[in-house]
Amino acid sequence: MTLTLPPVPPTWASGQVTERAYCVLAPNPGVMTLDGTNTWVLREPGAQECIVVDPGPLDEAHLTRVLDVVRRDGGRVGLTLLTHDHSDHADAAERFAHLSGAPVRAIRAIGTGHDDLADGDSVSVGGLDLVVVTTPGHTSDSVSFLLPAECAVLTGDTILGRGTTVVAWPDGELAAYLASLERLEALCGSGAVARILPGHGPHLPDAGAVLRYYLEHRAQRLEQVRGAVAAGARTPWEVVETVYADVPRAVWGAAEWSVRAQLAYLAERGEEGQLG
Ligand SMILES: [Zn+2]
Repeated sequence: MTLTLPPVPPTWASGQVTERAYCVLAPNPGVMTLDGTNTWVLREPGAQECIVVDPGPLDEAHLTRVLDVVRRDGGRVGLTLLTHDHSDHADAAERFAHLSGAPVRAIRAIGTGHDDLADGDSVSVGGLDLVVVTTPGHTSDSVSFLLPAECAVLTGDTILGRGTTVVAWPDGELAAYLASLERLEALCGSGAVARILPGHGPHLPDAGAVLRYYLEHRAQRLEQVRGAVAAGARTPWEVVETVYADVPRAVWGAAEWSVRAQLAYLAERGEEGQLG
């Protein structure tokens, strides 16, 4: 059986997505960032204090829009969280901390100097509760935030609103990524997660279907990489040309990271995959 991704809207824009989650779309669209980075403003109904997840790229106009959303009805930022330290999510962290007066927390976010969250931590601001779920793989510091009040999870780049993500080898690792997908799928299975608020692209209301697709897609890609090596591909780039022929050339550079991650994964398991 071949799974397909549930359909998503063709366009995505800023706005209220769930009762507690408002998306402010950053003006950085691209092949890797889709419509742009989603900066999430989370607020318990009626509360003043908000949590902001991923202030995004360093763009003054974007940060002003985020603060405009926060300050409706006299609100303020209580805490800023980062899903990982890639520049399209975290570059504005320091500037936003200055503008908002609120602290920033992350896990091992190398470029930002923050390492003050751990797996299972509960974070509570203005009556809104989040639980930290470490989901390494896209990067080693990737983390998701469970929003139990809405059975939602904010996934950063671990799950995207369209297509699939890259394993940014060597910092990102396939074995860790597969374990993170399985962990998120288990949270769907237990009923803790029903919907995904991704770091790029549209809100995903059927988390279980998306997780099953991601797991199947990774298994298929791995099989294709095995096949390409068996058929004589000699370099990671030759594997990309064979296996990623179905995706735009503009993302082949990123696909090469994922191929290297897959070759490393196969080599660790003693399978052929070590190329020269
Ligand atoms: Zn990103």
